[in-house]
Amino acid sequence: MDARRALPSVDRVLATLEGLPHDLAAEVARAAVDAARTAAAEGTAVDPEAVFADARRRASELAGRLLQPVVNATGVIVHTNLGRAPLGPEALAAVTRTAGGYSNLEYRLDEGRRGSRQDHAGALLALACGAEGALVVNNNAAAVLLVLAALARGREVIVSRGELVEIGGGFRVPEVMNESGARLVEVGTTNRTRLADYRRALSPEVALVLKVHASNYRMVGFVESTPVADLAALGVPVVVDIGSGLLDETTPWLPRRPAWLRDEPGARQCLAAGAALVSFSGDKLLGGPQAGIIAGRADLLAVVARHPLARAVRADKMTLAALQEVARAYLSGDATELPLWRMATLAVDALSERAVALATRIPGAKAVDTEAVAGGGSLPGLSIPSAGVALEAPDPDAALAALRTDGIVARVEDGAVVCDLRTVDPSDDDRLAAALLRCC
Ligand SMILES: *Cc1c(COP(=O)(O)O)cnc(C)c1O
Repeated sequence: MDARRALPSVDRVLATLEGLPHDLAAEVARAAVDAARTAAAEGTAVDPEAVFADARRRASELAGRLLQPVVNATGVIVHTNLGRAPLGPEALAAVTRTAGGYSNLEYRLDEGRRGSRQDHAGALLALACGAEGALVVNNNAAAVLLVLAALARGREVIVSRGELVEIGGGFRVPEVMNESGARLVEVGTTNRTRLADYRRALSPEVALVLKVHASNYRMVGFVESTPVADLAALGVPVVVDIGSGLLDETTPWLPRRPAWLRDEPGARQCLAAGAALVSFSGDKLLGGPQAGIIAGRADLLAVVARHPLARAVRADKMTLAALQEVARAYLSGDATELPLWRMATLAVDALSERAVALATRIPGAKAVDTEAVAGGGSLPGLSIPSAGVALEAPDPDAALAALRTDGIVARVEDGAVVCDLRTVDPSDDDRLAAALLRCC
């Protein structure tokens, strides 16, 4: 008998699938039947139950690829692959209010005429870092590209060889420079660049000096870079890409400055030192939505805002609504309720207590000291003391994979599965415990 006659119909397979929109489920069912048909043609016997199981596996694989919340048990606070900074209730409520109806996105209510989408979040952020103005765009990569295109296309931009970095995801300073139409002038050496190096490169062709914070790596030893204050004396506008978005080095919105921040540059200090513009991400150490912020001199921002690319990379109303709330938190002088700073400053003792409570619920698990990190390409090598649970597993990678099917992303350390609690919301502890029980 032809093995193919035992093949279940696509409709029969489809009837066993749930939780996916009809057309997606139909595609999955068809793929499972097709695979069984191909196998049957090669002589493999057809077991309808196996076809149903294959369809379920395909469906769950597909469902797992759709955008969904996960529990971040990695201890990496600004985890780019997991969506960087979570938003707090105020920002979320602002997004809901703004996106669910109309708003004065580009409308002056006082004058009844067209306004600018930089009048709200941008204006508050400018205030928060002591700038004349600020422009919000889609992300910081776009901010850097836009600044270079608007202020230096067809002209030269001086950059230290020590700062020609790749940030990740293909964002390389020389390539962005190329795309912007500006000409890169490299000065100094990988480890040392002095003011005199910049000065020698000056010419009427030079539009800007660009300083890039080497966010994701650290150079130690025989190194020297030129401070912004010295560069500002060169007589060309200095643009600083600080990356992480720390508004103020002294973190006046926290009761104490965390030691792990070490020498992370602040937007306020760069501007005070004479930078014409600074650019940074909205969702790294600023703790807001994905965005790029360009802050500084009003005359330069006006030129940047008029460039055609500004329209192409503009931020949407949901981003602006969330960012306005984040800016408001900083301006209130207390940003400890922003999820980023709440997680970053949680006392280790409190985390240890949670870890002990969790570990007692899971056979074989133990509470351990861990090291969390800021992440997102900020502060390489600087860890935040933390706590979590560790679970010895015969096959730790298989256990990690099992946790992922429960939407939990953890890590393996010394052959054990480790869940760092600094990045886990306490309301997810039960979910974490249940998943750990299932995976071992
Ligand atoms: C992260 C980073 C960028 C890119 O910012 P996105 O918001 O991810 O686009 C650019 N420059 C520096 C220095 C960075 O750290």
